[in-house]
Amino acid sequence: MGLVHISTPDLDENRSVWTDRQPPYTPQAALSGPVQADIVIIGGGLTGLSTAWHVLERFPDRKVALVEGRTIGNGASGRNGGMVLNWIYGIDGGSPEGNKAIYDLTRSGIDFIEALIRDERMPVRFSRDGHMEVFTRNHTAEEGHRWVEQRASWGVPVRWLNADEARSKIQLEGVVGALYEADTARINSLDFVRAWRELLLKRGLLLYEHSPVLKIEEGRNVVVTTAKGEIRAPALVLATNAYTPKLGYFRGQIAPIHSYVVATEVLPPEVRDQIGWNIGGFSDDYDRIAYGTITRDGRVVFGGGANQSYAYLYGGGTAHPPERPAAYDGILAHLRRYLPALANTRLEHRWAGPVALTLDRSPSIGVRGEHKNVYYSVGYCGHGITLGTVAGRILADLYADHHEPWRSFPFYNRRLPWMPGEPFRFLGYHAYTTLTGRSPRRYR
Ligand SMILES: Cc1cc2nc3c(=O)[nH]c(=O)nc-3n(C[C@H](O)[C@H](O)[C@H](O)COP(=O)(O)OP(=O)(O)OC[C@H]3O[C@@H](n4cnc5c(N)ncnc54)[C@H](O)[C@@H]3O)c2cc1C
Repeated sequence: MGLVHISTPDLDENRSVWTDRQPPYTPQAALSGPVQADIVIIGGGLTGLSTAWHVLERFPDRKVALVEGRTIGNGASGRNGGMVLNWIYGIDGGSPEGNKAIYDLTRSGIDFIEALIRDERMPVRFSRDGHMEVFTRNHTAEEGHRWVEQRASWGVPVRWLNADEARSKIQLEGVVGALYEADTARINSLDFVRAWRELLLKRGLLLYEHSPVLKIEEGRNVVVTTAKGEIRAPALVLATNAYTPKLGYFRGQIAPIHSYVVATEVLPPEVRDQIGWNIGGFSDDYDRIAYGTITRDGRVVFGGGANQSYAYLYGGGTAHPPERPAAYDGILAHLRRYLPALANTRLEHRWAGPVALTLDRSPSIGVRGEHKNVYYSVGYCGHGITLGTVAGRILADLYADHHEPWRSFPFYNRRLPWMPGEPFRFLGYHAYTTLTGRSPRRYR
């Protein structure tokens, strides 16, 4: 018998705004009894679905099984900010060509999402209407401006907006300038993963919901065990991002950080006119990055911005963190600083979801294990709608033994740096964030 990983699932219910007005959902039956498959995927978010999709595209006759602890999109993929962005957080391509390759890869991921929704007529709220990274201080704006010039010199379609131009996109207070990318998108990603599930079921995916994995035994045939069944397969995919340490993998390298988010009531037309929101979304230049987008029906979704907007639970718990009014108050105060017109706007949704933090804020995608049959894509650090989707293509390539296109990318089989264990991790996280007021980021 190979290495045995004991999994301690810690899954809560998705309470995000994206669950609003969803059609009734009937989960697939839980795993029961023994199943033999060609590949078993754990995790029904963007990474898992995309991997299933791309494996089935290459190998339509293979038996692809996907095991999800609750329902599709119950994790971060169904509770995020909905910003479908270019670039991979924390990854530097090392050269103009390397950076351009990363841009091209993520841009192709956004194109893929758009094409899939269009071609398969998926009922998904999706708009490709750009994003801006706003700068609120002169020194960060200078750096932002330099980036725009640098990226433009690599052939990336990005533009610098001065304060007035930035305000013509959204009437945000205190913005000095902005980096603008027109080709990014916003999405109701719960719509997306649920619609993708339907397509995959038609293509023969063996999907088991409400089936938390309790044990994984590695070997030539991996055995994945749930309460009432087990799947044997010669290949395993860990598509569990922030939950991965709870499955016994990357415990020393990934910390699940909970990100609190709010959504306002549907804005009255006069408020909507005042803020003039006519872009997908924005993020800012603070260490505790704040970001905002708008739903199709006109609610502002806003997260981050304050230390209290994030939480780390002792031992790396992944279920919903305690309700903290201070977290939501901090987010609301930040939102109203940017948009004073929202002074009387009510919050109607409050939720949190786990992001997979690595010490150097960068992901890793690769294959591990004695038999080189445990595929993984982890450590998205809160920037994973595009990356999770792209990761499925990469993992399907690695599974097909087609490593060549990916070897030169810095995320390929990247060794993740170690973090201290408990209690040092918990104490360190709180001491660092309280004393410095930030999570390490590029700006000072
Ligand atoms: C609040 C918030 C805001 C965000 N905003 C953005 C944004 O605007 N733009 C962006 O690009 N990214 C954003 N992200 C990040 C992005 O949502 C994630 O990086 C991405 O969805 C990760 O997808 P995934 O499929 O790898 O993981 P997940 O979607 O987390 O899926 C993992 C799945 O594994 C399942 N699972 C876990 N343990 C087990 C087990 N033992 N057995 C079976 N199943 C199990 C879980 O139930 C879950 O469904 C945000 C994340 C959060 C939390």
